[in-house]
Amino acid sequence: MTEQMALCVGMDPEVFFPGSGRPPKAAVDACRRCPIEIRCMFDALRSTDEGYRGGLTKAERDRIRAWDRRARKRAGVAA
Ligand code: SF4
Repeated sequence: MTEQMALCVGMDPEVFFPGSGRPPKAAVDACRRCPIEIRCMFDALRSTDEGYRGGLTKAERDRIRAWDRRARKRAGVAA
């Protein structure tokens, strides 16, 4: 059901894999308007997959994961 709602279905997958550069406007616009963006973003944060997913680049997701690890370490919470 939710996968059917993903706005990237049917789009050229290449726009979601821009390498280390910024994603093309088509990918940014799709994620921004996607009804499952938040779910997609959380799924992407739990993986180390490449590509632009849930409105975040791989580098942005890596920074969020690193920030989360530091916060958990400061709080004495196991990862
Ligand atoms: S948020 Fe996820 S499911 Fe929605 S268009 Fe972007 S990559 Fe696709």
